[in-house]
Amino acid sequence: MIDLHTHSLFSDGELLPSELIRRAEAIGYEAIAITDHVDASNIDIAIPRVVRAIKSIQKFISITAIPGAEITHVPPALIPDLVKEARKLGAKIVIVHGETIVEPVAPGTNRAAIEAGADILAHPGIISTEDSLFAKDKGVILEITSRKGHSLSNGYVAKKAMKFDIPLCINTDAHSPSDLITHETAIRILLASGVEENRIDSIFNNSKALIEKALRRD
Ligand SMILES: [Zn+2]
Ligand SMILES: [Zn+2]
Repeated sequence: MIDLHTHSLFSDGELLPSELIRRAEAIGYEAIAITDHVDASNIDIAIPRVVRAIKSIQKFISITAIPGAEITHVPPALIPDLVKEARKLGAKIVIVHGETIVEPVAPGTNRAAIEAGADILAHPGIISTEDSLFAKDKGVILEITSRKGHSLSNGYVAKKAMKFDIPLCINTDAHSPSDLITHETAIRILLASGVEENRIDSIFNNSKALIEKALRRD
């Protein structure tokens, strides 16, 4: 499994980065990104702490662990500067918490995330065709999620992505160890979301390509 959206206790996850990574390694993950929720209050705490944790354990683990961040519930106008700041602080994968239908995320967040060049637009909800095409244009990957609530719009996102050939990834948005899933479960969630079988490999390849891009960032 490759999972590029998870939370540690540096935001609202349950585990220290080291335990989250160990749990993922133990169930056979190939790669994990830790992407804690950030806004201006904690961006300079959460990211450097996760960077430090990963650096300290890196040579002792068999899984690729990547520090990241999820810019969450900030006014859309602030997203571009926070994406830049996150990268400067060492986030190699920057996610924006998209317009999920189960939270009052500010309208315009999807658009601002794409414009700002985030790597992944998480749970984008009922994303417009215009924004979907803009994401494709900018190389921003739309997310299919195993997270309850956010996953209600998976079918919509998958349908839009297939119609317009927009890159997708699948992540857990894990907050607890029980949220981590196997590769087989990820495949079943993609199929259940309406993704055609012949597109499954390309979805995992999008995640792999993003990891390669992330690891080239210094
Ligand atoms: Zn959360
Ligand atoms: Zn999240």
